[in-house]
Amino acid sequence: MYHDLEEKYAIKHPPLKGIDLHVYDNFSDKRLLSEIRKLAENVQGREWAHINSTFEGGGVAEMLRSVIPLVRGLGIHSSWYCIEGGEDFFVLTKKFHNLIQGVVQEYDARDIFQTYIETLKNNFDGKPVTADMTIVHDPQPIASIVHGEYLGKTLWRCHIDTSEADQMIWNFLLPYINHFDGAIFTQKSFVKPGVKVPAYGISPCIDPISVKNNQYTKETALQVLEPLLQKYNIDPERPMVLAVSRYDVHKNQPTIIQAFKELKRQKDIKKLNPMLVMVGNSASDDPEGQAMYEMIQKEIGEDPDIYALLNIPNNDVNIGALMRLANHFVHVSTKEGFGLVVTEAMWQGCPVIGSKVGGIVQQVIDHQTGFLVEPLAVNEVSRYMRYFLLNPDERDVMSKNAVEHIRQNFLLPNLVQKYLVLMNHLLGFEKKIPYFRIQ
Ligand code: UDP
Repeated sequence: MYHDLEEKYAIKHPPLKGIDLHVYDNFSDKRLLSEIRKLAENVQGREWAHINSTFEGGGVAEMLRSVIPLVRGLGIHSSWYCIEGGEDFFVLTKKFHNLIQGVVQEYDARDIFQTYIETLKNNFDGKPVTADMTIVHDPQPIASIVHGEYLGKTLWRCHIDTSEADQMIWNFLLPYINHFDGAIFTQKSFVKPGVKVPAYGISPCIDPISVKNNQYTKETALQVLEPLLQKYNIDPERPMVLAVSRYDVHKNQPTIIQAFKELKRQKDIKKLNPMLVMVGNSASDDPEGQAMYEMIQKEIGEDPDIYALLNIPNNDVNIGALMRLANHFVHVSTKEGFGLVVTEAMWQGCPVIGSKVGGIVQQVIDHQTGFLVEPLAVNEVSRYMRYFLLNPDERDVMSKNAVEHIRQNFLLPNLVQKYLVLMNHLLGFEKKIPYFRIQ
């Protein structure tokens, strides 16, 4: 059976209590906040559910943990269900994930019928989802639209970069996608042919009031980081190049390592004594994380200036503080749905060297909030690392631009406003087609 997240994990995570929209007064535009209030009035008392496959690790869980309290605070019932599956299920759905991002993977029909569909049937068997609107996140639970039962309106929310999805997996997903009342993609280029239901473009966002996105001063950042820096013997006085992401084939950490090694060979840079700090975790629905981490360690070799940390203690506080302290952030994924780490880093005032891929291009404005590069362009990444280290004034201007760009476009209220427009539309309170419909 799928699980009500809060029932199952109540001990680990205290219930997600509703919060008042006022807490965003210092971050978001007044007009946006009052629009949210108006939109919420129509749907107060209605139920809005989310279904995904992991309660921690990765961007989806991160966002749900913020969306739900805000929506509850607006008087809408909001629930979060998590499907359950064995290791074979998650190995298979990870293959789906990779195939969607264009990586060839082998699987056979038995995997689909015995593992994938059976797991979803077991999760939903005899247990209809009664919410007025349900958002089903990513491919893991997608087939529940056929093998489960939904009594209200349904949306499939795709967080993955599907622009180069393997045709076979896309053909497999399409009939499911087309059973929903609509599908949400991060950008138009992710909507491949065959989607017959309305498609909407909504960017993910970060929550400025979450612990991770608390904007630190340099002093506080140093204070909170002290135990971590001590534990790993990291000297905060050294200029820090930072990279944070899951250890995953698409996150392309080897390019960052190679670029940094190239950077260090330059005499004037050597004098600055920079270090590369890489931080990663593994999600419970991602069975490849540990193997990738070991591969990254091999790539680093004996280099004493590169730190690769896995599952750091006090994660949220430390991630934000590291981003505040770093000279710049590098995120050169080969595929990227959006890249919340980029948003988080920019919000802490850390300019970004990002790849021209997926949602990263919505965030990194070339030469204004950072630099855009091809994902495997080691030399170019190295050149921009050098630029940031040698040009502190220009770096600081980009830092300010980065914070403002996120403030205007990618904070939680921006996301919730669009979801509420959709809810009003789907439940019949608003006839107008949402302005962010992309197909
Ligand atoms: N993250 C974290 N600790 C880590 C690595 C990642 O808390 O060691 C978080 C990161 O801060 C971000 C999320 O995991 O909030 C990753 O989201 P993103 O969209 O960047 O990538 P995804 O993992 O969803 O592909």
